[in-house]
Amino acid sequence: MQRKIAVCPGSFDPVTIGHLDIIRRASKLFDNVIVVVMSNYKKMGNYSFTQAERVEMLIRCTKDMPNVVVDTHCGLLAEYAKEKGAVAIVKGLRAVSDFEDEFQQALINKKLNPDVETMFLAAEAESMYLSSSVVKQVSALGGDVSPFVPGEILEDIIERLGL
Ligand code: ADP
Repeated sequence: MQRKIAVCPGSFDPVTIGHLDIIRRASKLFDNVIVVVMSNYKKMGNYSFTQAERVEMLIRCTKDMPNVVVDTHCGLLAEYAKEKGAVAIVKGLRAVSDFEDEFQQALINKKLNPDVETMFLAAEAESMYLSSSVVKQVSALGGDVSPFVPGEILEDIIERLGL
C-alpha cells in the first residue's frame, strides 16, 4: 500500500512548541511527514535565522520522531506537494485571525494541485497565543521564552535574540 505523506509548511523563525505540537500530531496521522521550511517572499529579508539555521533547529527538535524529515522549498507549495507525492498539507489553526488567510491559501493550493488536501489541526489551548514573532518580541525585551520554545533551541534563541 502506498505510504501517506503529509507536508507541514511554515517559516519556523524560530520553531515554537506550537509548531512542534502540530508536527507531532501530524506524525501520528501520516506515515511520513515532511516539515518544509519555506522562504516567504513577504517576509524576505525579515528573518532572524537563516534558512539553514531554521532547518538545523527543526532537525534537533524532531529527532525523536523517526517518520519526520525536514526540507526547504522556495517556490509553490502545491508544486512541492505534487513532487513529493504528498496527500495532505497540515497546518495549525490558532484563532479566527488565522482563518481567512489560511482558507485562501487552502483554496489556491487546491486549484493548483487538486490531489492534495489541506488539513487544519486546532492549536492546543496552551499555545493558541503563541507565534514566532511573540517569541522574538519577548526575547528582545529580556523576557523568559523557555515556556514557548523547545528546550533544544533555547540557547540559540537567547544568543541571537536576547538582550
Ligand atoms: P508563524 O505564524 O508563527 O509565523 P509559521 O509561518 O512558521 O508561523 O507557521 C507555520 C504553521 O504553523 C502555520 O500553519 C501556523 O498556523 C502554525 N502555527 C504557528 N504557531 C502555532 C501555534 N502556536 N499553534 C498551532 N499552530 C501554529
